Amino acid sequence: MAREHTSTATNGHYATSLDGAQGEVYDAEFEQLITAMLRRLGEDPEREGLKRTPLRVAKAMDFLTSGYSKSVEDVVREAVFHEDGKEMVVVKDIEFYSLCEHHMLPFFGHAHVGYLPNGKVIGLSKIARLVDVFARRLQVQERLTTQIADGLVAALDAHGVAVVLEASHTCMMMRGVQKQKSSTITSAMRGSFDTTARTRAEFMAFIGR
Ligand code: ZN
Repeated sequence: MAREHTSTATNGHYATSLDGAQGEVYDAEFEQLITAMLRRLGEDPEREGLKRTPLRVAKAMDFLTSGYSKSVEDVVREAVFHEDGKEMVVVKDIEFYSLCEHHMLPFFGHAHVGYLPNGKVIGLSKIARLVDVFARRLQVQERLTTQIADGLVAALDAHGVAVVLEASHTCMMMRGVQKQKSSTITSAMRGSFDTTARTRAEFMAFIGR
């Protein structure tokens, strides 16, 4: 997608910036939107430090929302194995970074995921990748939690799935009520984690809650 252009001469020498060639275009339409936003903020998009900002922002936003072009099937393909074990599997403290859909500001924290297998297990790293499929979109924490849980249910046909997310929302920390130390906890319990208090309690003990 990114295209390289040759450097343009200014003041008798070729202008280059520290992090790449001048004139590079990644996504012209997107970059124009960012340039307009910089002007709206009272900035000068032509000043040195901002020249490549539209390009950087466009690339960053594409990465931070790359989950839209991925699916649960993409992640779990060839990573689900038949296994007879029936013991609970818990992966805790999976870091995630997402963007709140109300302000497009980051919220971030940890996901704790558990499941009770029903003849199928999944590679542990795939659970973390599944979290990113849904985290790298515009989200609300509640929906992120249920999408991870329902994605795992669909992939594993498990006896049960548990997902707990703990997150800090920069839209609450930097603006609005400006509460820097609050964290938001959400959970989604499916199958035996929903129906059996003992199973749920075992999971909560594992994750230290
Ligand atoms: Zn927000």
